Amino acid sequence: MSILPASERPNPYSAYGAHGSVLVLNSGSSSLKYQLVNPVGGEAIAAGTVERIGEPSGIVTHTFAGNRTRRELEVADHGAALRLALGMFDEIGPALHGAGIYAVGHRVVHGGAEFSGPVVVDDDVIDRIESLVPLAPLHNPANVQGIRVARELLGDVPHVAVFDTAFFQALPAEAYTYAIDREVAREHDVRRYGFHGTSHQYVAGKVARVLGRRVEDLNTIVLHLGNGASASAVRGGVPIDTSMGLTPLEGLVMGTRSGDIDPAVVFHLARNAGMDIDELDTLLNKRSGVLGLSGVNDFRELHRLVEEGDEDAALALDVYVHRLRKYVGAYTALLGRVDVIAFTAGVGENDAVVRAAVCADLEALGIAVDDDRNAARGEERIISPDWTKTLVMVIPTMEELAIARQSVEAVDRLHPSAAVATG
Ligand code: ADP
Repeated sequence: MSILPASERPNPYSAYGAHGSVLVLNSGSSSLKYQLVNPVGGEAIAAGTVERIGEPSGIVTHTFAGNRTRRELEVADHGAALRLALGMFDEIGPALHGAGIYAVGHRVVHGGAEFSGPVVVDDDVIDRIESLVPLAPLHNPANVQGIRVARELLGDVPHVAVFDTAFFQALPAEAYTYAIDREVAREHDVRRYGFHGTSHQYVAGKVARVLGRRVEDLNTIVLHLGNGASASAVRGGVPIDTSMGLTPLEGLVMGTRSGDIDPAVVFHLARNAGMDIDELDTLLNKRSGVLGLSGVNDFRELHRLVEEGDEDAALALDVYVHRLRKYVGAYTALLGRVDVIAFTAGVGENDAVVRAAVCADLEALGIAVDDDRNAARGEERIISPDWTKTLVMVIPTMEELAIARQSVEAVDRLHPSAAVATG
């Protein structure tokens, strides 16, 4: 694997257009997702996943120029996974040295109160991300491992850490503070951090660009509804509340996570069901939410079950929508004036039934969706009728692109001469 030396590396913001690209890596506990992104044009040049890392039969997929390649083979660890991914670039394309990699952008789940923006990775940054492992024991170790092996294998290129929590470091204290004993909270860093920040920030900014407005002038509720789901209230580009908390477990009902519950459910089950902490963790993170209520967590299947008359599936959908409507109401009160409600991520972008149910019977608040606009497919669009005070929009999230652009900005901040030279 050869990468252009630093002196020959093109700046993707150069006047000559899209000469450079950013390799975005998302290292999970058993998977590696990657995308080679043009940060100027915004397109994914190539993308892939390595799944079931550490299991006997791993799966590698790589998509380039409209062709998808799939292989099954053992992937021992994250080092092997990245080597495989780089091998796919060599074999199938595009050649990474030809793509002129400007930076590698790493998605990191938890930046604690330490990181409020992207940072160029050095040994100290890795130590600091590692020190946050107690806050994100399921995510940060894999993120650190991914960064370590990527720095070994792609040593010539700057690596940037982009944190899921960073956008929400701007939350006001009354939104991020839990009402528990302040000494305990301080000693153990217990507060709301918020997650999916890259997506919430991107969508709030994209709303403004699509409308030709300044983000500073808009109040937006962003509903990121993927397998994980979160809501945020964004005033003038700055978040004033979000639904996820110390971890991504709080807030909305999700694919497999409960979202908000009475914390005493945990004490109750520990005392009466004999469940230990790990079992409770698994229950609430992996066996709850839509899956726990209905047996499935993909909304396409959920709707199929509802149509077949499955009562558990119908209840799961009702619980999911009920929670979302509570958050829309709460954030309406916090914002005072809501200019836009933006739906994004897998469910938010594709599920017209959920969008209609969330916005139903809210005409008195100036919120509604138009059935035809809601049913139409497409890119970013307005789905509310013309008369509403609040625009309801669908905005496809592009987390990889946002990570790529933040990575470029972080590198340019470190080497301002390159940025100035190219405007
Ligand atoms: P994540 O990044 O959190 O894994 P995504 O944003 O990719 O999740 O969303 C995945 C979810 O989106 C799926 O579990 C499924 O429930 C939902 N989804 C995807 N396509 C559709 C669709 N056409 N209709 C309804 N839901 C969909």
